Amino acid sequence: MSRTIFREANLLDGESPARAAVSVVVDGDRIAFVGDGDAAPAAPGDREIELAGRTLMPGLVLSHFHSTYDGITIMPEPLGLENPPGYLMLVAANNVRKALHCGFTSIVSAGAINDEIDVQLKAAIDDGVVEGPRMLAGGRGLDTTGGYTDTGPHWWELGNPGASRFCDGPDEFRAAVRAEISRGVEIVKLFPSGGHGVHDTAAASAISEDEMRAAAEAAHQRGKKVRAHCSWRHSVLECVRAGVDVIDHGDEIDRECIDAMVAAGTTLVPGMFFLKQMLGDTGNLVNATPEQMAPIQAEFDNLRKMLPVAQQAGVNLCVGDDYGIIILPHGRYAEELEFYVKEVGIAPLDVIRWATRNGAKLMGREDEVGSVSEGKLADLLVVDGDPSVDIAVLQDRDKLLAIMKGGALVKDHLSNLETPNP
Ligand SMILES: [Zn+2]
Repeated sequence: MSRTIFREANLLDGESPARAAVSVVVDGDRIAFVGDGDAAPAAPGDREIELAGRTLMPGLVLSHFHSTYDGITIMPEPLGLENPPGYLMLVAANNVRKALHCGFTSIVSAGAINDEIDVQLKAAIDDGVVEGPRMLAGGRGLDTTGGYTDTGPHWWELGNPGASRFCDGPDEFRAAVRAEISRGVEIVKLFPSGGHGVHDTAAASAISEDEMRAAAEAAHQRGKKVRAHCSWRHSVLECVRAGVDVIDHGDEIDRECIDAMVAAGTTLVPGMFFLKQMLGDTGNLVNATPEQMAPIQAEFDNLRKMLPVAQQAGVNLCVGDDYGIIILPHGRYAEELEFYVKEVGIAPLDVIRWATRNGAKLMGREDEVGSVSEGKLADLLVVDGDPSVDIAVLQDRDKLLAIMKGGALVKDHLSNLETPNP
């Protein structure tokens, strides 16, 4: 395989501020060289791209992704039985392709209904059957009887609907995690608390700390991770103590939660862009009353206050959200990045780190993806503009000139920038 040499790049490497006039050499599926142009002479057959100050950056990582969601409502929680698995697989294949073509070369599942849709989709992507990002595959959510996702009327006697597996007691959680992992799931979703826009479901902490600890230990023993939909302050603290790897949302976090997350190395994926949609356009979703909207506004206001504190304290923050819910369609991923800059006051370079380095850390693949450095996989974007100055440029698909995954160009609008190589 011949090499691709990018010259005169504005390099955003996922760690440091932008650096001008850098050359990057891609050899096969890896980044072979990053440095001054003169040190990387072209050989016959190499493809040379003169970027002339355009940005080269890591492929983005979306750390909360529901592949099977498409135009769903969340009240009641989807059971995962609304469509047959073959149909859901096509929805999922369409969504992951969309993410890749928006510049997200890696995605982390936050749960994907039943039938191991994510697991099988990941295998199909890795085998080249369909196009898509690198995936950390999810499965069914684990919850307790009567918990957050146990929303069917009890007289229906649904038992375990497709999207959830109900477990009671540490032993059942341990067994459920092992069963999920045995079917290929790499990150298991738990539902220990309500909140995050949904306030009229079971109010109690649905999963106890000893149950979460059993789930986390069972996953870690097999080299896998657990993530938890968790909004409430006390539940966040229980999750961190129990060894949960990823807190989704954390709407009620305070300084104590932040310090606990930093000490334990827990990742936080706030998914606040969804709350923004809830506050802006609930009409499609529910006929919410002012009383129902008040807690959502309170969650939004608290996260807006605490996320800069969490950033400053060193929490591993990541991007990703509930795309596919009716008020937040798939494809709007890069708008979320601008939202954190403009409405939460996070510096563009930090949000870029959330979407690159931090996502790679969550995946446990920081040695391979998430930054532009020698030896890593060549997951790269070429952007006509500088996202560290104007992060909104990532929303303009025409300015996304190239998307490379593992050295292969998924999108290639570089022909005008090629240097003839005799
Ligand atoms: Zn979600």
